[in-house]
Parts: sequence; structure tokens; C-alpha cells
Amino acid sequence: MLPAVTLPLNAAVGCSLANDVIAAESVPPFANSAVDGWAVRAGDTAGAPIKLRVLGAIAAGAVADVDLEPGSAIKIMTGAPMPIGADAVVMVEDSVVDSTGASVEILASVGAGQSIRSAGSDVREGQVVFRSGTAITPAVAGVLASINANFVTVTRKARIGVLSTGDELVDDGSPLAPGQIRESNKVMLLKLVAAAGAEPIDFGIIKDDEAALETALRTAVDQCDAVLTSGGVSMGDYDVVKAVLSRIASMAWMQIAIRPAKPFAFGVLSNTSGVEVPIFGLPGNPVSSMVSFELIARPAIRQMMNLEPFRPTVLAIADDDMRREPDGKTHWNRVFAKFDEDGYVHVTSTGPQGSHQLAATSIANAIAMVEDGQGVYAGDRLEVMLLSDWS
Ligand code: AMP
Ligand code: MG
Repeated sequence: MLPAVTLPLNAAVGCSLANDVIAAESVPPFANSAVDGWAVRAGDTAGAPIKLRVLGAIAAGAVADVDLEPGSAIKIMTGAPMPIGADAVVMVEDSVVDSTGASVEILASVGAGQSIRSAGSDVREGQVVFRSGTAITPAVAGVLASINANFVTVTRKARIGVLSTGDELVDDGSPLAPGQIRESNKVMLLKLVAAAGAEPIDFGIIKDDEAALETALRTAVDQCDAVLTSGGVSMGDYDVVKAVLSRIASMAWMQIAIRPAKPFAFGVLSNTSGVEVPIFGLPGNPVSSMVSFELIARPAIRQMMNLEPFRPTVLAIADDDMRREPDGKTHWNRVFAKFDEDGYVHVTSTGPQGSHQLAATSIANAIAMVEDGQGVYAGDRLEVMLLSDWS
């Protein structure tokens, strides 16, 4: 796990708390009205309908300048502090003010405490409001703001270097020369890293040149907590990532029994301080890059930051056939998942499943596990990993 740092709350969203947070203040800090209405003594309303004398009004942010006397009412807005002497609030909907405004008819009786939000009813001063390891979601940030925790100690964000490799790749908008393609993995991986809660660092496109790649990798491990490379890890003659990392790093070269994303490399490269920095060698095919990020790199990056590593999975119903041949591999089909009227999650394939066909993958919000064998038919159930917000 990475070390702790203290950050302004704004910068800490998406991180994991490194300490328990003890509330320095209560929320709400004072008893206040839950509705727009009339602060009253509950006992005065027992015989409702009943007329009460109007003593004044209290807005949110103001304080009553008079105490509530028996037989009277003070108009009160949502969030305004309860005046001394009042023990309940009557909703404005249950009242009729007379034409002079001097008195109000209360139409319904209320019990003591009605429509009052007591001090500390959300968070009590001195309470452990969040345990160490809690992820700072936007709503958690809201609670931290509510108790004046404007600086928080969190596990530092992982700095993740991203670089693409390949002589064929261009990203400068120039016309494609024969054999060239547009680079697509880097922007995707940089944004996936950011979406995972880490800090991406762009190390560019590196040619299939061993010296250039070694320089880029050594620069990256000096600045990063982990590095993602894309391309050059399979069995080709110009797979320079494999050539360079085999020489300078301690790597495991894998053929994983999944499709897409079969070739994968993981290892460590020592930086100039002697720290062993993890290297994830993702395959170059864009779909494989994306799927191996999701299945392997993302959980590891999240773990470094003490964040939940795994995406939620659900059992879903296939709405179309996902047939396949046995090949010893688990297939991860890109699908669109949604709740249907029957109350179940249903998935449909998003289109062609080739490892170069990122367009169909890009509109998926989930990946479905199609186990080795003949696949599934429409109506069968299968396990699905949800990737993002889905509808
Ligand atoms: P490689 O793993 O380097 O052999 O690449 C496998 C396939 O992915 C080849 O067709 C490459 O042209 C393609 N590819 C590799 N890197 C990228 C990238 N960054 N963007 C788009 N396609 C890529
Ligand atoms: Mg390549």
C-alpha cells in the first residue's frame, strides 16, 4: 500500500481514508426545524383547531429574538434554529394565518419533538464517523465538509505511467502513410487509470527501438508507482517490450487462458533509488488492452491505494446467443447490461468481438464471462462484471 498524505478535501475525493475520522462537530449543530411551519408548544395544539398568537418569524441562518410563550407561535423556516420554549413544529400546510397576520389557526395537533431535527442527529461530536479505509465518495466528502474536516489523511494516489509502443502508431493528425494506424490505447488507458482513482502520467508513443524504450521505461519508473505499457508483449519479431524488459527487469511472460487479452506480462523494474516498480505489459490490440486493464491492472492499482479492487458482478440473463468453441479459455464478451421489467439484469452483445474491434467494446458497460465450452443460448444465465454506471 502507498504512504499516507494529508490533502485538502477537494483533492482527496476518490482516495481511501488512512485514519479514522472523529467528528469535531455535531451535525446538525443545533436543533432546527425540518419543515417550513410554526414553532409551538406541543401541548398548546392538543385541542386543535386552535388559534395561537404570532410572535415573529425565524429564517434559516437567523436566531429568534424572543422566546416562545404559552399560547403563541413563531413562524419558522426549514433549517432555522428552534426558539427557546418551543418543542414542536406544525407544518405550514396545517395552518391558516388570519388576515392581519397577528394570529394563526393550527389545524392539526402535534406531539413533542415533531418536525424537529435534533442537534447531532446526523453526526455526533466525538463519534468515529468514518473508519480508516473508507473510500471518499462525493457523498462522504459532503459529510466530511459538514464536520469541518477540510483536510484529510488518505492513502496517496498511485502515479501510473502509460506508454504505447509501435512503429506503426501515429497520433499527430497527419495523413496515414502506408502501414500506419492511429494510436488509440494511450488515451483510453490514461482515462481508465484516472477513472480507477489514480493519477495517470503520459510517457508518449515509443518506437519499436530498444534504446528508446529502455530510456522511456527507466524515466517512467523514476516518476511512477507502476507503469503500463501497451503492445510488444506477444510472439512477434519486433516485440521490443519483451526484448527490453527481459533484459533489464524481472518479468513473468504469460499466455493467460482468457480471450481477449491472452498475452500479458508482469514484473518489476528497479528505479534509480532501488525501488522495484511494477510493470504491467498489456497487449497492443485495443480490446485486449482494455480487458486486461480491467481484469488485471485495475485491481492491482486499486489495491495499492487501499480501494476496493473488484468491480461488482451480477448474475444476468443473456438476451442473445453467445456461442463459442471450446479452446481452453474463458471468454470475456463485451455486453450491454440493463435492468428489465422482469426485475433481472439482461445482457446483449455489443457487436463484433474481435480483439481489434474497439468500437463494439467501447459501448459495453459490462463484460460477461462465457466459460470454456459451447457458450450460452439466449435465456441462459451468466456472470457479468459491471464496468461503469449502467442503465
Ligand atoms: P502488438 O502487441 O504490439 O503486436 O500489437 C498488436 C496489434 O495491436 C497490432 O495490430 C498493433 O498495430 C495494434 N496496436 C498496438 N498498439 C496500439 C495502440 N497503442 N493503438 C492502437 N493499436 C495498437
Ligand atoms: Mg507492436
